[in-house]
Amino acid sequence: MTDKILELEQEIEDLQLQLSTAIEHGDSVDEQLLKMNEQLKSEISERQKAERTLQKLTNIIRQEKDDLEILVEAVTDHSDRLDEQWLTQYEKMQSQALTDSLTMIPNRRYFNQHLTHEWFYATRKQQEIALIMIDIDHFKQFNDTYGHLGGDECLKKVAQALLIACHRKNDFVARYGGEEFAVIINHTDVDGVQKVAKKILKEIENLNIEHKTSLTSDYLTVSLGAAITIPKQGVEETEFISRADHLLYGAKRNGRNRYEIDYITM
Ligand code: GH3
Ligand code: MG
Ligand code: MG
Repeated sequence: MTDKILELEQEIEDLQLQLSTAIEHGDSVDEQLLKMNEQLKSEISERQKAERTLQKLTNIIRQEKDDLEILVEAVTDHSDRLDEQWLTQYEKMQSQALTDSLTMIPNRRYFNQHLTHEWFYATRKQQEIALIMIDIDHFKQFNDTYGHLGGDECLKKVAQALLIACHRKNDFVARYGGEEFAVIINHTDVDGVQKVAKKILKEIENLNIEHKTSLTSDYLTVSLGAAITIPKQGVEETEFISRADHLLYGAKRNGRNRYEIDYITM
């Protein structure tokens, strides 16, 4: 019996120990839960803060991206405009380099380029090509009588008259230098070139420019040398120019205000 009582007393003691341990343990769980709760709250608050910052940053970046897009568009526009301006300027310079500034028709440089091109084409196709060299008669006297400015005005009128006389799409009229002009005509026979030469003399006559010190006429006249050929391989176009020049001086020798024409075999 005493043993039994002792045993029970021991059991009670153990239970009391277990109970107090359980109570202590419970306190610490509560504490931990509280701690975790606090930690969680602080984490949530941190995260919300971070989200707000992120949102702000996103807004800034979006705004900067929009600004950048506007800037890129503006720069592209500007650069397109610069390209256009550059091209226009380049074309203007190119055309200025090939245009005679007094008469505003192609100059000697353009003439050389065009003749080389047409000469090459006529050689390859074995087609006719014609060159008419034109020189104003007694132009030195004209300048002496009407002044250099009067001479300049006269050159402009002669250039316009030549354009009227040589109006076909492929006719090419240039100021060769001084008071000399040149016309390139392609794919035309002797008859066709002769018609153009006569038309030139007629248009100059129609200008009715007084030239009282001319030994040829009371009005301004020109002389022409017209050469026509089908170029052979290996023959240079400069040789053709000399032949046309030669014919021009023939026209001068034979009285001026006229043309000399020849079919050249080269
Ligand atoms: P010809 O009938 O033999 O051709 O005689 P010409 O007097 O016309 O020939 P010459 O070569 O002796 O004289 C050409 C003149 O053309 C001389 C020069 O002062 C003039 N001349 C050349 N270029 C220009 C120009 O741009 N303006 C003016 N006003 N005169 C020019
Ligand atoms: Mg001359
Ligand atoms: Mg002359």
